[in-house]
Amino acid sequence: MPEPTDLPAATSVLQGARVIDPASSTDAVLDVAIAGDTIVEVGTDLRSRHPLAAVVDLSGTILTPGLIDLHAHVFAGLGDFCVEPDRAGVSTGVPVVVDGGTSGIATFELARRSVEGSGSRTRVLAFIDPNQLYLATKDFICHKLQIADDERNLDLDSTAAMVEKHADMVVGFKVRATHVGDDTHSPFLEGAKSVAGDLPIMVHLGRFPHTPVITTPALLQTLRGGDVITHAFRGGGGQLVPGTGSVTPEFADAVERGIRLDVGHSGTDFRFDTARRLFDAGYLPDTISTDLNLFNEAAPVRSLAETMSKIWAMGVELPAVIAMCTSNTAATIHRGEELGAIAPGRIAELSVLRIEEGSFELSDGYEPMVVDRVLSPVGCFRAGTWIDALVPQAVAA
Ligand SMILES: [Zn+2]
Repeated sequence: MPEPTDLPAATSVLQGARVIDPASSTDAVLDVAIAGDTIVEVGTDLRSRHPLAAVVDLSGTILTPGLIDLHAHVFAGLGDFCVEPDRAGVSTGVPVVVDGGTSGIATFELARRSVEGSGSRTRVLAFIDPNQLYLATKDFICHKLQIADDERNLDLDSTAAMVEKHADMVVGFKVRATHVGDDTHSPFLEGAKSVAGDLPIMVHLGRFPHTPVITTPALLQTLRGGDVITHAFRGGGGQLVPGTGSVTPEFADAVERGIRLDVGHSGTDFRFDTARRLFDAGYLPDTISTDLNLFNEAAPVRSLAETMSKIWAMGVELPAVIAMCTSNTAATIHRGEELGAIAPGRIAELSVLRIEEGSFELSDGYEPMVVDRVLSPVGCFRAGTWIDALVPQAVAA
């Protein structure tokens, strides 16, 4: 880590916020000095050390590392499913968004161009589907046409080449664990594992229309430590022995082996009821993500901050909630050296949140929950540039 004196003079001092940086176990009112796109110092009374810097008063807010949404759909124009990157990203105070496998290999460069040509300001990373042709659509076209379970759709040399070519953007695979006859073996999951190296594989807990998936016990047994289960708190997903608060042996074993649990809220894939049982049994999310897409952005997902508010309302302490969208997420995608912490020398990706007090109604899409406080995004610094949040406000109860 560079010493402060090695770094340029600050251009801005962010002052007065409660800085919550789980990576350094920080929870205190501190100043953060930035120079251009880089954090140069974190401490107290930084204005006296950087007298020429502009002062940004963040009193009454919470300053965190730039929030990262591990699972959203942001390749707008590919299929009919995606929101514009900024809708999931900077417009909701989230500087970094990971696309959750909207695209397979053959369309990935087009998907990338859709982001780069869109004028979006959000930094977009991606999980990629290992199939040549995969695109997420409302009617599950690749499942309906049965190419999501056709081995001819796999060309692992080209998959490996695409991942290598786009290593700056691709953080892992999103695999739909379909099978071709043996419900304990997915050629698509095994294919992805054969080329993934140490990149994580994200899988969805649950079924797809039109195509068969391997059994949940088989899926859990074949995942590797570091892989990610998204929709981990959905109803009927095989985490819990039906009718009980006990987890299945396969689920317990998977978590024991280091498989990570991601919220992946979506319209129908997060249940307060399942989450309560799993939290009570000691299974908290490693990461909070939205699965934001055109069909859940209005309700019940709305934003990453609102999804965080739900986990907070269920009893997880605020610094832990923030870790689930910053340091834990960065570690999950092996970007912990670069993202998910506030420290000198790092790029200035920072989020600013406010705690709103009152009476608000949150919903998992099935069950309302009235809460007396929510997190609301104020904005974010994306590579040092401030962007106001435009997110819809929390719904008053
Ligand atoms: Zn998704």
